[in-house]
Amino acid sequence: MIADQFGQIVEVLGHGVFAVDGEGRVVYWNRWMGDMTGIEREAAEGRTIYELYPGMRSDAFRRNLRSVLAFGSFAFFSQKAHGWLLPLPAPPDSPPGYANMQQNCRMGPIRVEGEIRYAFVIVEDVTEAVDVERKLADAAVRDVLTGAFNRRRFEERFDDEVRRAERYGRGLSLILLDIDHFKDVNDRLGHPFGDEALREVAARCSFVIRSTDALCRYGGEEFCVILPETGIVPAAALAERLRQACGAEPVRRLGLERALTISLGVTEWRPGDSPEDLVSRADGALYAAKRGGRNRVEIGA
Ligand code: GH3
Ligand code: MG
Ligand code: MG
Repeated sequence: MIADQFGQIVEVLGHGVFAVDGEGRVVYWNRWMGDMTGIEREAAEGRTIYELYPGMRSDAFRRNLRSVLAFGSFAFFSQKAHGWLLPLPAPPDSPPGYANMQQNCRMGPIRVEGEIRYAFVIVEDVTEAVDVERKLADAAVRDVLTGAFNRRRFEERFDDEVRRAERYGRGLSLILLDIDHFKDVNDRLGHPFGDEALREVAARCSFVIRSTDALCRYGGEEFCVILPETGIVPAAALAERLRQACGAEPVRRLGLERALTISLGVTEWRPGDSPEDLVSRADGALYAAKRGGRNRVEIGA
């Protein structure tokens, strides 16, 4: 038999492994558990998991433990559904922004002479994988140059918001904005500076809008802002603040400097409007702002 050797492997495994009896009393606690919880094996073994982690008394853990011990079934606590089973701090080398270690956990029966006597729990730290997954999902909806949401995300989000406006009637507005004389910026200061200016405009706009609003790069040097639950009056006021924020200071990047202005078209959702109706009205207003001399806000009525 090589049971002893397996015991040694479990002891040094890069996952948490512990075992409990029907009362939740800890009968095994591997080294990882000691390292991550700060509770040494000698201190853990003999105490119940509920004494160590009172939160585990109330939730899914007890129910699953009962069925593992009664029926020999297996349980899976997925990070996607629960975040974690054991409330542990994220290890020091985890990506920033995670207070708790994200975990996938499994539980199953341990038989002694054919009888189910204990349940084992395997704790897998998936904090890093969760972070990579989140970053990839975020990258898929963002414009690489400016960090604003991309056109695809705009379409999805705007469709959702129009549906919400239809259902709840709490208002919805759209701002479309375009940098004035941007071709000239590229021509005089070069395309790399143009790129930096786009970044700067996106940054200034992000600073002005609320976290519930969505800034999207609509096209080349055109952006739009979705304003959920916002009527035309506050939307026009926000457009005006965006205009001022973009024009307040020249863009200073790559050792170059250039004053910029933007033109904006604003419109609000009306019953029966499709997403295309709103975009088309905002676009008409933006065109009117350009014709009217640029560096201004027009309302699409
Ligand atoms: P208007 O005031 O009427 O908007 O004039 P404009 O020159 O800004 O208008 P137009 O739409 O004709 O020009 C947009 C320019 O934006 C043309 C294109 O080269 C530039 N552009 C589009 N995308 C990018 C980009 O990603 N980087 C840079 N540097 N320039 C871009
Ligand atoms: Mg332009
Ligand atoms: Mg344009």
